[in-house]
Amino acid sequence: MSTQPLTPPAPTIDAPRLARLVEISRVLNSTTSVDGLLHYIIKQAAALTDSEAASILLLDPHTRQLYFKAASNSPDNSLTHIPIPLDNSIAGSILQENRPMLIADVTRDPRWNPDVSQAINFQTKCILGVPMHDADRQAMGVLEALNKQHGRFTRQDAETLTILADIAGVAIARAQLAEALQQAYRELNELDQVKTDFIAVASHELRTPLSVIMGYVSFLREEADPDMAGQLDTVMDAAVHLRNLIQDMLNLRYVDAGESMLDLQAWDLREVVAELTAVPDETAVSRRQTITSHHPPDPIIVRIDHDVILTAFTNLLDNAIKFTPEGGQIDLRLEQRGHEAWFSVCDTGIGIPADKLEWIFKRFCQVEPALRRRYEGLGLGLSIAKDLVELHNGRIWAESTPQQGSAFTIALPLHSEG
Ligand code: ADP
Repeated sequence: MSTQPLTPPAPTIDAPRLARLVEISRVLNSTTSVDGLLHYIIKQAAALTDSEAASILLLDPHTRQLYFKAASNSPDNSLTHIPIPLDNSIAGSILQENRPMLIADVTRDPRWNPDVSQAINFQTKCILGVPMHDADRQAMGVLEALNKQHGRFTRQDAETLTILADIAGVAIARAQLAEALQQAYRELNELDQVKTDFIAVASHELRTPLSVIMGYVSFLREEADPDMAGQLDTVMDAAVHLRNLIQDMLNLRYVDAGESMLDLQAWDLREVVAELTAVPDETAVSRRQTITSHHPPDPIIVRIDHDVILTAFTNLLDNAIKFTPEGGQIDLRLEQRGHEAWFSVCDTGIGIPADKLEWIFKRFCQVEPALRRRYEGLGLGLSIAKDLVELHNGRIWAESTPQQGSAFTIALPLHSEG
């Protein structure tokens, strides 16, 4: 066998090669595409060792075989499908024995596989191969330089290739991780979109039969005797509850449509707040809650999509009513603060623990555990309000004292003329 183990390296790399290695290391550290890295590495490996070609084989952790990932003598990637086993192959020996090897004449090495040369019509005469390692020093592949162009491979070539392989291995492992993360992120986004589309379609489809039910219930209610009327009221309450849930789901469409769908107009925010209380809320009335509203005498002009901001305000008021017990107090307050309009909803309700004050603005997050919930809802209202307010370059936040009450505030930029 013509394998020649190389003795421990002495510092033989000359200054120009070292300078070149430093420059290569800088490029490798700033390249994030795996393909880009592989091609850059083989080009540099061939140039640094004065070889006709260079190639990189990486270990597949599942099949435990090596695969060509880049080869400068096979630009059309025709080698990528040829697996190289770890046993009885030159590259496999380099990886398993974890050391550089020089094969001066491949034709005299029984591990030599001529299929590879034939596949790309390249005559391999000698190979200088070194193992590549990841950041944990695990052997992850092999870097090979093929056919020295002038003379024979030297110790300096072996040392240079070893250093290049080590810098390259870490860079490749890092880029592979980054690509896997990007892929996972893309898949998560796709899943999120599927879920959002499903919610939009389902809520839309539920609305039509529900309107029919509500229509017939109110028609029957008019004709019904007192006994039956009580039962129909219960059906109607349940239907209203269902309609509110569906409305929450439908409001997601505003969020997904994004900024481009906003119909922005100048509005006096006092008018929008007045709409909130124009019709007394049945739940608040039945709980004997007092709702008061305060606003300044002068208009507070903002540039908003009226329906969208009304939805955000309504979500805050609905929550205040829902989480405030019988006889509680709810204050709506509108004021100008610097260049912003602040709308706050303060209640004397159950309050929110301090560590949940930011978390409740995420989708489907509710303070009460799902299975022990006393309050109805999907956990969507605040996240929708937050997204809608942020589409208007505004902010939303909550302050609260548990058992005493909460205050939710929405800040919107004032409309400046011109
Ligand atoms: P939902 O009201 O449908 O549960 P939201 O997104 O509107 O969903 O609110 C999320 C959670 O924030 C609620 O489940 C509740 O735990 C808490 N919360 C919201 N508003 C109030 C409030 N005014 N008082 C107490 N807790 C509140």
